[in-house]
Amino acid sequence: MSNIYTSNLHIEKAATSKINDVDFNNLPFGRIFTDHMFICDYVDGSWQQPKIVPYQAMSMEPSARVFHYGQAVFEGMKAYKDDHGDVFLFRPEENFNRINKSCARLAMPEFPKDYFFEGLTTLLQLDNAWVQPGVGNSLYVRPFAIAIDSAIAAAPSNDYRFMIICAPAKAYYKGTVKVLIAEEFSRSANGGVGYAKAAGNYAAQFYPTNLAQQKGYQQVIWTDADTHTLLEEAGTMNVFFRINDTLITAPTSDRILDGVTRKSLIQLAKDNDITCEVRPIKVNEIVEASKNGSLKEIFGAGTAAVISPIEGFEYKDTYYELPEIGAHSYSSVLKKKMLNIQHNLAEDKHNWRYQVK
Ligand SMILES: *Cc1c(COP(=O)(O)O)cnc(C)c1O
Repeated sequence: MSNIYTSNLHIEKAATSKINDVDFNNLPFGRIFTDHMFICDYVDGSWQQPKIVPYQAMSMEPSARVFHYGQAVFEGMKAYKDDHGDVFLFRPEENFNRINKSCARLAMPEFPKDYFFEGLTTLLQLDNAWVQPGVGNSLYVRPFAIAIDSAIAAAPSNDYRFMIICAPAKAYYKGTVKVLIAEEFSRSANGGVGYAKAAGNYAAQFYPTNLAQQKGYQQVIWTDADTHTLLEEAGTMNVFFRINDTLITAPTSDRILDGVTRKSLIQLAKDNDITCEVRPIKVNEIVEASKNGSLKEIFGAGTAAVISPIEGFEYKDTYYELPEIGAHSYSSVLKKKMLNIQHNLAEDKHNWRYQVK
């Protein structure tokens, strides 16, 4: 389709701001939302007028197809404010491209780029006060799209809704993370939707993750569905292993989410003369490396936490503990470099920052 969309963004401002009721030192993640939201419906084969309106509940018929067949995709990105009050996003074009890749896989219409960026930047300008300065503070931005057609026939919806909502976030210490390597359950499979940020991927992870938590593990390291011998992702993050001084992460595929944090860390490793191999990683290789002492680190990588270090893993009823490396670990060094770029505290030689103005 070659529809040209020239945006005519309609803005309805909130009468009053809720911001004074918010305790920014005590933020439960993802429960408090800013004053405004972006909304745009797809009806009769085309995207309608995009709008920014006060954040509010919406009503939908119980037959709306999203409730029955799960046509729902989302993104997760963050806005940061530097000490001069300038607001930045981190590689937002990656998120835009990815949500459209996810839409295509779920047979949903792609969203126009100019609508996305105009809606996103205008929303962040209106809710500017909600982006708190300081490393660790950010505004979590959640674009998503759902099927809203009122019909329970098992077929793609005719009508869709694309929205963006925002929630202030603080970096908080989540405690140490121990993980269980999956031997039975799978997150994704060849030919499936693992590479898409489809809501259903998360629903399917909750049960095996609950079982892992009952055993004392916070997350599951997902292995390939076929053989359960290849390490693919950690919870809802990409995963990196450090053997001696080499970082290793699995190649993207239709089973693995192409994370913005992952690809940025691969580049940052290169920039800092850290060897990073992108190749399949066998569970046995990690077990052997742990036994012989060459396994130094495992960490998850994703927008929410940037890097989440893992302190140990269980595989086939044996627990393997990782050494404590502290401030010189790749996870600490790379996390700091990422945060400094995101918060406009370091040179941005790859032009990853996108100033909201
Ligand atoms: C979102 C997500 C990631 C991380 O992607 P980022 O772009 O780095 O936030 C990794 N794995 C899965 C399954 C995800 O849904």
